[in-house]
Amino acid sequence: MQQEAGTAQQAVTYANLWLDGRWLRNATVRIGGDGNTVDVATGPGPATAPVRGLTVPGLVDAHCHAFQRALGAWTQRAAGTRDDFWSWRETMYALAGRLSREDLEAITARCYLELLRGGYTSVAEFLYLHRLGERRSLDADQAVAAAARRTGMGLTLLPTLYQHADFGGAPPWPGQLPFVRDTTLFLEDWQELRRRYPAGGDVGLGIAFHSLRAVDIDTIARVHQGLHADPQCRCIHIHVAEQPAEVAGCLRQHGATPVALLAARGLLSPQWALVHATHATEAELSQLRTAQATLVLCPTTEADLGDGCPPLGAFLDAGGAMAIGSDSNIGRNAPNELRALEWSQRLARGRRNVLSSANDPAVADRLFRIALHGGRRAIGAKARADFVTYDAGEGDWDLQASEDYLSALVFDTAAPCARQVMIGGRWVIRDGRHPGEAQIEAQYRETLQRLRTHIQTGKNHD
Ligand SMILES: [Zn+2]
Repeated sequence: MQQEAGTAQQAVTYANLWLDGRWLRNATVRIGGDGNTVDVATGPGPATAPVRGLTVPGLVDAHCHAFQRALGAWTQRAAGTRDDFWSWRETMYALAGRLSREDLEAITARCYLELLRGGYTSVAEFLYLHRLGERRSLDADQAVAAAARRTGMGLTLLPTLYQHADFGGAPPWPGQLPFVRDTTLFLEDWQELRRRYPAGGDVGLGIAFHSLRAVDIDTIARVHQGLHADPQCRCIHIHVAEQPAEVAGCLRQHGATPVALLAARGLLSPQWALVHATHATEAELSQLRTAQATLVLCPTTEADLGDGCPPLGAFLDAGGAMAIGSDSNIGRNAPNELRALEWSQRLARGRRNVLSSANDPAVADRLFRIALHGGRRAIGAKARADFVTYDAGEGDWDLQASEDYLSALVFDTAAPCARQVMIGGRWVIRDGRHPGEAQIEAQYRETLQRLRTHIQTGKNHD
């Protein structure tokens, strides 16, 4: 049983609760005033009427750019004879350059509400927007924090350093200018964010370097040296080896591939989360694991962008930490993300149940457990009383033996939608309803219709 210090303030009984790999019937969870689980007990005489359905701990979405939620349908027409990540980026720049603070909040709130229904209870927002439109003061973080508070989503903000278009300090392109700031300003902004989001509050902080393309390795080392021991800096994230061109550029510039370069500079530790690592070698994944850093994969975005998928089997078998992320938010459902992860491996390797292991033959159960622990690790957070409940209508899980419940949810259900969501002991969604959903939906629709006109017009004139 899960045991945490504290005094119980409330109790909730779940009819079917997954805990540490086992299904418990009529499990009563006692929750402290700090939002953490005090203990879990089963047996006769549940403290409250059981919450029916299938209940699992909420997962961490360890890599999210909420504003990209708007792009899904706008990037599915071929932009030329060769369409790829780099052409997709042009539309993303057009959107980023137009966003007001209100636009960002509206898109983010809708995105977070969908992510809650999709089984995530916490998001790491990799935020390379910082000042929006003509504003000179830091405001993108406030839009994201406001959206998280309106929806109830747990939030870790990752202010992101972005300086160059490519290796060797190439000057940024016009579309990248909204993301760029010099190191001095980044550090000043960090101090401001520390004041806005103090330790122990509802918003956690970490930092991110956009990529080795966008920040010089010496700058990364200097900023890391200054901030990694700051108690408010819970984690350090970076995009790495997402594209072959990035790996080739890193080799040209540094004579080393991206993960190997970070390792050689002594920059990998349990505090680090490396996002994608799509084109990392098995030797690099081994370096990442040895350093106890976390690998963050975003399978639906990686499929949408045509990135590829890394060889994962040996990494996971050796106990590597892995989390999942929604990234561009073309996918907003945690069980689907796990399914896409396994299916991408099946397509690449020509086998089934690739990510199973001898001790853990059920892929869904294994990936869920790995993503749960890896997600918390990626944001430097402990377990909280975060629970997500699916109805019997979400797939056929209630017709299965309990050892197949997660297999039904992950592999046999189109997009399971949570009916009950509790975060830190607080009900966020009850019986499928979120108290703010009507307003969030109306603002999102107005925002998207207005932006679409501009983005489509902009594309036609390119
Ligand atoms: Zn990303």
